[in-house]
Amino acid sequence: QRKNGKLGIALVGLGGYATGQLAPALLHTNDCYLAAIVTGTPSKIPVWQDQYHISDKNIYDYSNFDRIKDNKDVDIVYVVLPNNMHAEFTIRAAQAGKHVICEKPMAITVSDCDRMIEACKKANVSLSIGYRLHFEPYNKEMMRCGREKLYGAIQQLSGGFGFKAGPNQWRLTQKYAGGGPLMDLGIYVVQALCYTAGMLPVSVAAQEGTKTDPERFKEVEQSLTWQFEFPGGLIGKGESSYEDHFNYIRAEADKGVFELTSAYNYNGQRGNTPAGNMSFAQVNQQILQMDAFARSVKNRQASIVPGGMGRRDVIYLQAIYEAMRSGKKIRI
Ligand code: NDP
Repeated sequence: QRKNGKLGIALVGLGGYATGQLAPALLHTNDCYLAAIVTGTPSKIPVWQDQYHISDKNIYDYSNFDRIKDNKDVDIVYVVLPNNMHAEFTIRAAQAGKHVICEKPMAITVSDCDRMIEACKKANVSLSIGYRLHFEPYNKEMMRCGREKLYGAIQQLSGGFGFKAGPNQWRLTQKYAGGGPLMDLGIYVVQALCYTAGMLPVSVAAQEGTKTDPERFKEVEQSLTWQFEFPGGLIGKGESSYEDHFNYIRAEADKGVFELTSAYNYNGQRGNTPAGNMSFAQVNQQILQMDAFARSVKNRQASIVPGGMGRRDVIYLQAIYEAMRSGKKIRI
């Protein structure tokens, strides 16, 4: 522990999310701070050094990254790379003795998730997934409703996340993304269906949507719908799209509807329950997420969004794709 007791974080991959959300949030965190950067783009270095006062010795690229082992300023490595690179950099970070936050989806295959968990276990470091909504009050309220069955049994459950994705990006390639909007956006819905149901699914069926833009969606699906079956027979319907806009989770229970009508963004959540409109303070999810992980490291506790949860969700994502391709219901 250093710098006023704050743990040092190294951001790996200075793209949209690191630049727009994580680094600005790290100016306001109490338990961690931005100590180092890892980038393959030299032109970003002076800009980041200027803005975040990062010393020369705390700058790495992808080939010399393993030297971070010897850097006492860095306690936590935060992997914010394209999905197919999460496994390699999580494992290298663990081997360097650093705790890891890895962005979602944890990886593009379950065997990668296994290797990541194993590497962290072997190095005795903690592994967390960037599931920021577990620190967001409206989503936490949905979790509470699901866990405590506040409004009785759920009869109907559905959720969806979609927005239009621009062309020419790694997100539209099978190699880098591991799939389309399901990997990127549907994963939030997979999570929300589970935490709102307060259960985990036992099987899934899925259907690919029509490609209205086959050029942009040469490699991955444009949209996808799926149906989880939960123990007891409840069906949780999910949808994700890179073309249409939607952003919700909705449960119709014995005692009424509880739902978020704006569920997954960085802010602007809205929701209601049979008790009325939800009204919680807006928070900065990234600040809360990173501080919670830093505290868990300091206190030697497991993350509340651990590697095991990320692996579980990659199993579900893969089952959804298998159901989509085969046209069959897949047992999970
Ligand atoms: P970007 O494309 O904006 O940034 C990715 C960065 O990774 C690049 O800027 C680059 O950084 C680095 N990189 C290294 N190799 C490559 C490569 N071959 N192709 C492209 N980039 C490369 O992506 P995002 O920041 O939007 O997403 C990064 C990760 O974060 C993803 O896993 C995504 O799912 C997740 N994410 C999570 C969000 C959340 O809310 N939890 C929100 C947005 C993204 P450099 O130039 O420094 O080397």
